Amino acid sequence: MTAHRELKQAIIDTCLRLEAMGYVIGTYGNASARVPEGVIVTPSRVDYHSITPEDMVTVNAEGTVIDGERLPSSETDVHRLIYLARPDVGAVLHTHSFYATALSCLHETVPVIVEEQSQVVGDAIRCAPYVPAGQHAKLGEAVAGTLGASNGVLLANHGVVACGRDVSEALFAAQIIERVCQMYLMTRAISAPVPIPDAFVRSERDRWLYKYGTRADHDGAH
Ligand SMILES: [Zn+2]
Repeated sequence: MTAHRELKQAIIDTCLRLEAMGYVIGTYGNASARVPEGVIVTPSRVDYHSITPEDMVTVNAEGTVIDGERLPSSETDVHRLIYLARPDVGAVLHTHSFYATALSCLHETVPVIVEEQSQVVGDAIRCAPYVPAGQHAKLGEAVAGTLGASNGVLLANHGVVACGRDVSEALFAAQIIERVCQMYLMTRAISAPVPIPDAFVRSERDRWLYKYGTRADHDGAH
């Protein structure tokens, strides 16, 4: 009996959706979810179409494999260090989606420019410094150290990470981030987009987290 079978299948299904949307090509990309004993993460270099829950790997807070036969993703430290830094995060997705990766080559912060970014991402999308491929621990430290309170961070000249309270929310964040990066590139081509003021970013994030879809929110809506 495989522990957390449903969660493992949900991670696999999310990877297949990311591939179908063109966010990952081949095995460039990885996904994880927090469990009480550590982190469940996708295995290294296994085609998403052939992964089963038995292929998933569980590592503890120190990164030691505690369940699974395969090697964990080479970017497991990115996931593990984000969970250590952000107790509110329950799932992490790493992709090389087109517009976010294009923006990562500019090494710039994407300010909060649209309302769904304030709601789902909750903050600007900063860019972690470039770390050469293969320096996995250093990449994890750079990404976790740059994320802040945001649910999105760019990895310079590499890709993007999206976070959420669970796997479906992380997938939603990945989609919002990709749209934001596309809109940011388009608007920047014409002029400098005007960010949403910080106070409204915070109030909108709060509304989305705690009130969205409730009667109190509906009665106050326009
Ligand atoms: Zn990557």
